[in-house]
Amino acid sequence: MEKELLEDYKLLRKSISQDKRIWPFNCDRIFTIKSFIQQSTDTHNPSKIFRRIWQISIPSKISFFSWKLLLDAIPVDEALARCHISIASKCLCCTTSSEESLIHLFVTSEWARRILLYFNDIFEQRPPSAPNIKLILASWFSVGKKGSMEFTVFSLTPLAILWEIWKERCSRKYDDTYVWSLTPVSLIISKVKQ
Ligand SMILES: [Zn+2]
Repeated sequence: MEKELLEDYKLLRKSISQDKRIWPFNCDRIFTIKSFIQQSTDTHNPSKIFRRIWQISIPSKISFFSWKLLLDAIPVDEALARCHISIASKCLCCTTSSEESLIHLFVTSEWARRILLYFNDIFEQRPPSAPNIKLILASWFSVGKKGSMEFTVFSLTPLAILWEIWKERCSRKYDDTYVWSLTPVSLIISKVKQ
């Protein structure tokens, strides 16, 4: 078996002069954003939450970030540790430092709790019983009729909150020119409101 495979491989190498990337989800095998979104929303992740993050009213950078967040593919310290990258984890979102996990940073940290509380009050959202990003989004996404302003606001606001928390965290961690904000929560809230 191994010998046959090796011979096949050698034959293929002779017949193919150049390696070429193909996108298997399109007829012409060429990658397009449209086919990518279709593939992500219709085939693999048909849930309401995944469909909602790809609304036209959501900036694509926030859609892509949210998509990775829902797939647990954001490189927080805990995720890096899971990939056997040794790192001394220390979150940047609390006065008392904790290990930086996805749930900690986006749901249970000092930043997240205060920001979510602020917007929950304004939009009359009840926090879910368990600390869970999908449950938070499901609650927000249950409001509004498709195409309405309410639908857009209730789609964009929770995603913008998560996005701004991540941006602030990355600036603190990696940006040498970052001006350390004494009121990160107010800063993030004002950015979300924009
Ligand atoms: Zn923290």
